[in-house]
Amino acid sequence: MAVFKPEKAFLYGESLESLTASLAEAGHPAFRARQLCEWLYRKGAREYAAMSSLPLALRQWLEDNYTLQPASFVLAKAAGDVTEKLLLELGDGAYVETVILRAPEGDDAEEGARQTLCVSSQVGCAYGCKFCASGLDGWKRNLLAGEIIAQVMCAAAHIAQKRGGAQARTLSGIDNIVFMGMGEPLANFDNVVRAVEILHADWGLGLGARRITISTSGLAPQIRRLAEVPVQFRLAVSLHGATNQVRSAIMPVNNAYPLEELLPAIKAFNEKRGRMVTLEYILIEDVNDALSHAAALSDIARDLHAHVNLIPYNPVPDLVWKRPNLRRQKAFCEVLSRAKTSFTIRRQKGDDIDAACGQLRLRKQREKEALSGNGDAAQAASKA
Ligand code: SAH
Ligand code: SF4
Repeated sequence: MAVFKPEKAFLYGESLESLTASLAEAGHPAFRARQLCEWLYRKGAREYAAMSSLPLALRQWLEDNYTLQPASFVLAKAAGDVTEKLLLELGDGAYVETVILRAPEGDDAEEGARQTLCVSSQVGCAYGCKFCASGLDGWKRNLLAGEIIAQVMCAAAHIAQKRGGAQARTLSGIDNIVFMGMGEPLANFDNVVRAVEILHADWGLGLGARRITISTSGLAPQIRRLAEVPVQFRLAVSLHGATNQVRSAIMPVNNAYPLEELLPAIKAFNEKRGRMVTLEYILIEDVNDALSHAAALSDIARDLHAHVNLIPYNPVPDLVWKRPNLRRQKAFCEVLSRAKTSFTIRRQKGDDIDAACGQLRLRKQREKEALSGNGDAAQAASKA
């Protein structure tokens, strides 16, 4: 299933430029492209009939040539009022997860409850990090740019509906979008960059570039390539190990791009963009949480002028890894504090709804395979 070719092109994922060209080719006036973008990305129209400023003939032409909804909503699962996970089904029956994270009350009292949307970039993941649910069943396919945008539009519509609104207008209060769901964004480079451009463009969703974060497990050549993309999004690198020994033990990608290749690539990105990179560091008991690891992490962060985001591990069923207790977490933080490393430690959110990326989708996919009579998958589903 490596490449998904939809019957009709997706409208989400088209740009003002590409729509202008295809409308012109079909004999429609160019100015309609801007109106169409407005219906798609700003007003969140969920059906062609809602695009009332477009002539009937154009709406019919759109319907004949494009798919408006590349993803359908399957279910939402919430953990308190902090985390809500949406499961979406794509045109070929694959599932993706999109997570809405709300800053807990009191965290951002001045700004109101900030909402961050965590989007997936692939179905499954080929990188097989040992601690992660997304890679457990391997990589299925890349998401198209339209399927990435569809996650945002579905989440915005879901939020709007919960608030009693008829449709999703301009993001429904989503403040940040992070590519931290399922998949490795830089292994789906072109679709991710296209989606980022649409998220940011004035004819698109109009989200400030600094409100968009791409997270990578450390694909060094693609990090260098990413520095050339004009949109000034933020970059996060999943480090998780401050030595090659630790990193290679839990992240096979480190064998392809060890620290001596990865760190200079991050430095080159920094120099080009002049923007602080974030190093993501999951704390896993007895794997990477020793005080000597904290010291090595501080050295790397200082050298890169990077901010460290510590994430206490979210346990995944079937995997053996554990979250260190609070005392160990605190001791690790103290080493960073003493070294004057800029860091934050993420509050534990939503682990009761399979919040670690990929778990909800994995369970649903296995259930589906079990129903269609695949014995191995049935066994796996009963375990998940
Ligand atoms: N592939 C990219 C982006 C998706 S993963 C990457 O690896 O950066 C987003 C983040 O969630 C990564 O930092 C990843 O390491 C982390 N993550 C994966 N499984 C986790 C778990 N069980 N608990 C906490 N964080 C996890
Ligand atoms: Fe893939 Fe990122 Fe999970 Fe590693 S952490 S398996 S790269 S999604």
